[in-house]
Amino acid sequence: MATVFNTPTFKHGLSLWCPQSPSLNHRIAPSTCSPPIMIGGFRRRSHVHVAASSDFANENREFVIVGGGNAAGYAARSFVEHGMADGKLCIVCKEGVPPYERPALTKGYLFPLDKKPARLPGFHTCVGTGGERQTPEWYKEKGIEMLYEDPVTGLDIQNQTLTTYSGKHLKYGSLVIATGATASRFPESIGGKLPGIYYIRDVADADSLISSLERAKKVVVIGGGYIGMEVAAAAAGWKLDTTVIFPENHFLSRLFTPSLAKRYEDFYQENGVKLLKGALVKNIEAGPDGHVAAVKLQDGTTIEADTIVVGIGAKPAVSPFEALGLNTNVGGIQVDGLFRTRVPGIFAVGDVAAFPLKMYDRIARVEHVDHARKSAQHCVKALLSAHTHIYDYLPHFYSRVFEYEGSPRKIWWQFYGDNAVGETVEVGNFDPKIATFWIESGKLKGVLLESGSPEEFQLLPRLARSQPLVDKHKLQNASSVEEALQIAQSSLNAQAATV
Ligand SMILES: Cc1cc2nc3c(=O)[nH]c(=O)nc-3n(C[C@H](O)[C@H](O)[C@H](O)COP(=O)(O)OP(=O)(O)OC[C@H]3O[C@@H](n4cnc5c(N)ncnc54)[C@H](O)[C@@H]3O)c2cc1C
Repeated sequence: MATVFNTPTFKHGLSLWCPQSPSLNHRIAPSTCSPPIMIGGFRRRSHVHVAASSDFANENREFVIVGGGNAAGYAARSFVEHGMADGKLCIVCKEGVPPYERPALTKGYLFPLDKKPARLPGFHTCVGTGGERQTPEWYKEKGIEMLYEDPVTGLDIQNQTLTTYSGKHLKYGSLVIATGATASRFPESIGGKLPGIYYIRDVADADSLISSLERAKKVVVIGGGYIGMEVAAAAAGWKLDTTVIFPENHFLSRLFTPSLAKRYEDFYQENGVKLLKGALVKNIEAGPDGHVAAVKLQDGTTIEADTIVVGIGAKPAVSPFEALGLNTNVGGIQVDGLFRTRVPGIFAVGDVAAFPLKMYDRIARVEHVDHARKSAQHCVKALLSAHTHIYDYLPHFYSRVFEYEGSPRKIWWQFYGDNAVGETVEVGNFDPKIATFWIESGKLKGVLLESGSPEEFQLLPRLARSQPLVDKHKLQNASSVEEALQIAQSSLNAQAATV
């Protein structure tokens, strides 16, 4: 590990040895950012605690990442690739383990216990993209200081200092905020904190849920989005009596069309999962022992439950960084196309960042792992090199369910592009494939594919990025998903030939 510090000039970062210019400092009054804010509800969960490295050479940290999740793991890899990690980089984590691929928590992690469920250290970043598995030893070897279970509670912009829960004061040169999001919760007044209710955001949450599933008989999942669908599929794999309750008319209403959702809903129901659509929760009731016993709906229906999993969305984890400037439409910390906040030397990436989505000319906040990885890598590259390419993200969402060994059907779909526009064409009968195309003014804007081959999946981003003109009627008349993708491919080729 290096003990000598050099002071390179960074394109967009700041050095502790090069104080900010006074003209930049006055942008945010110190009084608005100095007081440390305690993070509500933080509790130490040391089931997988890893001791913090004690031999970090520098009092003053050149680079600090606040977070320790998906984006932090990929950012760390980029620092290493640039030769700027050893003795220079510190990651301040709220959790007790190094960054991991968070999506696994409601997928392989929840497999039935006899079906080889995923466990750490198996899925530390960056295995999700075929990269090295960054275990605690990896961070040690790379000379990266890891502070575990010590969330940042205060930011003093003027003095470039962070305060942590345990009372540490950390000076930083450049700061990358990667605090992600926190699960939305039901208020305590309607029973949102009763024992037996689970909100899945981190590995400790998933562990608690698993201990409950081991004893569970009746599981209720509240929410019909990604988390709800994934947890319900897992509970069905455990062969538990499972009911999904959600207020919308169909599954994953943010993305799926009603007819696409119906394919999945039918499949869940065929596998024993009960669905209550258009249902609003009134309150959650406890039994005589104080543990959850039932969910009461606004129409008076009562559904018995001993385990309740709530997946009703997430909120960006902006505290204690509000003074950096929040976006009032999409939430999160506002950044530019290089992930710079309005304060020089401070960046935000991943779920917490509100960034310009260049392709569609709008500000967005994306809570998906592909963006977490890419934003982190783009930000670090911009920070450490002279590159000024604006982040040009193509939205990419995916989910995988019923993947455990012996499942009736492994489901894996991927989506690229924009689903907020145009009309849709659905092709295929889910036996086993299905595709949906989003078309606006004749242009292909988004595409979702279920159970595609690797080559077919590779075509999707090219289509969504190039937005070729497609013949809607030809697509509608395609007799198979393969034929529809060939039509789309031909449109792409025709467009390329005219350029
Ligand atoms: C259960 C689950 C399943 C998912 N499945 C999918 C999927 O199938 N496909 C997909 O595309 N995306 C999925 N996602 C979303 C994806 O995981 C996120 O988009 C991604 O993890 C975001 O990375 P991030 O680093 O911004 O935030 P996170 O990975 O959430 O990491 C943030 C980290 O910061 C820590 N933190 C928060 N505040 C502080 C603080 N003050 N100080 C220090 N540390 C702090 C948190 O504890 C956390 O460890 C899923 C998310 C969850 C929760």
